[in-house]
Amino acid sequence: MESIHGPNNGPVDRSKALEATARARAVLEDESLHKVLSSSVGPEIPVPRQVFVNRNLHFSRVELIGFDMDYTLAIYHLRRLEELSYQMTIEKLVTAKGYPDAIRRIPYDHAFVMRGLFIDKKQGNLLKIDRFGHVGRAYHGRTPLPEETLNSLYRNERIRLKNPEYAWIDTLFALPEACLYAGIVDLLEKELGQPCDYTRLYDDIRDAIDTVHRDNSLKTVIRRDIGQYIFKDPELGPALHKLRSGGKKLFLLTNSAFDFTRAVMSYLLDGVVPEYPSWRNYFDFVVTDARKPEFFSGHNPFLEVDQSKDDNSVLGEATVLERGRVYKGGNLATFEKLTGSAGESVLYVGDHIYGDILKSKKTSMWRTCMIVQEIEDEIGYLESRKDEIVALAEVEVLQARLDDEVQRRKARLNQVERRLEKKDGDEAKLEEEFRVTKAELDRVRKALKECSSLVKVLEQDVESGFNEYWGLHFKEGNENSRFGEQVEQYACLYTSRVSNFVFYSPMHVYRSPREAMPHEQAGALSGKMGAMGSEGLPKASLRAPTEIP
Ligand code: IMP
Ligand code: MG
Repeated sequence: MESIHGPNNGPVDRSKALEATARARAVLEDESLHKVLSSSVGPEIPVPRQVFVNRNLHFSRVELIGFDMDYTLAIYHLRRLEELSYQMTIEKLVTAKGYPDAIRRIPYDHAFVMRGLFIDKKQGNLLKIDRFGHVGRAYHGRTPLPEETLNSLYRNERIRLKNPEYAWIDTLFALPEACLYAGIVDLLEKELGQPCDYTRLYDDIRDAIDTVHRDNSLKTVIRRDIGQYIFKDPELGPALHKLRSGGKKLFLLTNSAFDFTRAVMSYLLDGVVPEYPSWRNYFDFVVTDARKPEFFSGHNPFLEVDQSKDDNSVLGEATVLERGRVYKGGNLATFEKLTGSAGESVLYVGDHIYGDILKSKKTSMWRTCMIVQEIEDEIGYLESRKDEIVALAEVEVLQARLDDEVQRRKARLNQVERRLEKKDGDEAKLEEEFRVTKAELDRVRKALKECSSLVKVLEQDVESGFNEYWGLHFKEGNENSRFGEQVEQYACLYTSRVSNFVFYSPMHVYRSPREAMPHEQAGALSGKMGAMGSEGLPKASLRAPTEIP
């Protein structure tokens, strides 16, 4: 095809490139090399425990690795902690905010909430949205919104994170409040027949749960029986040790106060690895009460904590950060100055998409790793439904093709019909072409109908098999969910637990699977991208398990 702009290629001597192409073929087809590569060295890492890569990261270039504590180093028994904070929040609502006793009867339903949902504080709805901000599913109380209501409320709107009318459930700590919100909406409106001020209800729940965290009531219960609430991952100590042995410095940066941090970290790490009698031995710097996300953009000074006390009192402002000491507050700029490590040489590992990952990515050059403990279940589930998911992806490809073929044949029929009307050509031949094309159109239409129905059944079945209300965490319909998109955009790496680093060398090069852009997938590069591991399938609503990033 002739170029619109005329030729604009570079020098035309292709001899070097042709020779390199031939050599490339020889390397690619080298049998003896294939033989060596087919016997892999080292343990195979189970998929749910792998570290997934959005942006390439050369671990050899990372000097300093920071960890958040809650839900990052400390993996809570999700349901137990949710149930506890749910019950404590209800108590606060009844005793301090005058909510009716009846709310004590609303049971906690773990399945009804997942990270990444939004609360519409004006309409009293719970929403799951896709990466473009379009609402895919919505519940009012625990009743799904009828399609017409969903369309009339949200079809013309894109939900933005900054819009104060919506609250984003972006941390696992916030799951109970979403469940309680839906439960109270239903109780007030359906059972007690009372009007509900949706915004006020949200603010009251938020305030109550905030108090439960701040007044230490929640932490007092956890500290009484830490083992009941926190999972002691036996590989955590060895994983941190491996990183230190690889020459990395480690630091802890948590919003929890010193007293709670000490209790949790001692439980997790004291005496686990002989070289590290105390949790403190693993870390070069320890910062508590860090007030993330403010830490990343604010100017709070570092204060040294008095470790001889359990009341988080401080000894004074710190002008140096030293191993063995514990600090409180602080800010990114001073941290980089005092530690001598900055920008891309620092990796921060956290679980909170906004406070740990998005904010650090936007305000610093730090590399990020997000802990998404939910993916272990999700990957396990997807593996168990592999056959259906592969069938679904294939049927969707066929569906798209059939859809195109219907349009093509319809256009062709119109063309032939017009020629017949105008008597433009051999009538018998045209009539025969009309007959054949019409028969093909009917066949293709029938297959399209069948594929559409199959896609619907398979999609619905696979999604609701994971979560009957909300489907998969990372998907909404044909698109990534907003949560999935945020993880992709802001986390360089993501994985289910910190201890997964035990499977990798501290020099590992984390490589992102190369994604082809649509024009590359369609054009001459498609084969090349395919060979490089890019998915050859068009965007399917569910990917085959092996292709989950
Ligand atoms: P990190 O994840 O280690 O930074 O710590 C999170 C801290 O934030 C924990 O101490 C939680 O108790 C606390 N936290 C979580 N949600 C809330 C809240 O809604 N209000 C106040 N503190 C919270
Ligand atoms: Mg955390």
